[in-house]
Amino acid sequence: MHTAGQKMMTKIKKWLEMGREFVCFLLFPARCPVCDEILEPEEYKKGIHSACKNKLYLISGAVCMHCGRPIGKVNQKEKESIYGSTREYCYDCVQKKYHSNSYIFQAKAVYIYKGAVKASMYRFKYSNKREYAYLFARQAVQNYGAWLKRSGIEVIVPVPMYKRKQRRRGYNQAECFARELSRQTGIAIDTKLVRRVVDTKPQKGLSESDRKNNMKNAFQKGESVVQYRCAIVVDDIYTTGVTAEAVAHELIKRGIRRVYFMAVCIGEEM
Ligand SMILES: [Zn+2]
Ligand SMILES: [Zn+2]
Repeated sequence: MHTAGQKMMTKIKKWLEMGREFVCFLLFPARCPVCDEILEPEEYKKGIHSACKNKLYLISGAVCMHCGRPIGKVNQKEKESIYGSTREYCYDCVQKKYHSNSYIFQAKAVYIYKGAVKASMYRFKYSNKREYAYLFARQAVQNYGAWLKRSGIEVIVPVPMYKRKQRRRGYNQAECFARELSRQTGIAIDTKLVRRVVDTKPQKGLSESDRKNNMKNAFQKGESVVQYRCAIVVDDIYTTGVTAEAVAHELIKRGIRRVYFMAVCIGEEM
């Protein structure tokens, strides 16, 4: 009787899930993050058109041990002469000494910030295309599901946006990605661990030291009282690592022992 009841429950749960998916499909016809056209039912679950998949540069192969950026072959000879023949870290991390001095234990990214993903990230950030988070998280789980499990991460922390800015824009794209990642992995999300207390200037065009100054004191302890040992900070794009470092630093100050990082996109090695 017991097992028959359990079987019935599993069936009911499956039907409910199918029903939920169907209702979602009717109410929120998802769009493909690459071409922004509506996805047909058979592509709905994949979150992208099969033909559009090739327009994204999924990260694979040899990557930097610290930031997860693919280690390029450009000027390999020249770089080898500087950093030795076995390159474990990208040029950027070595230059910034992130490989030996960082608040982030290890970082990963899903796509190279190149080609079709650039326009896609722009819409994700500014045009209310929050639904793209589904594909980004799905791909993150496909690439790094095992890594996430192995790492013992207890909580996902999106890079916070300045409150007034978020109210104006309506949402924080890093949080959309974090929520989807949490839903798909079962790892908790906490948006109240860290808050952004300064409306920072855009980082673009600033020098390295100006970027650091810009981020100085930008984040502060939030009101969450939950204590974690291991967290992952997530954001849409990893550019210089300055923002990621600032948030990770705040978490370490709160007593979190190990902080990982994940971005949807990362720039190519220079
Ligand atoms: Zn498409
Ligand atoms: Zn690196």
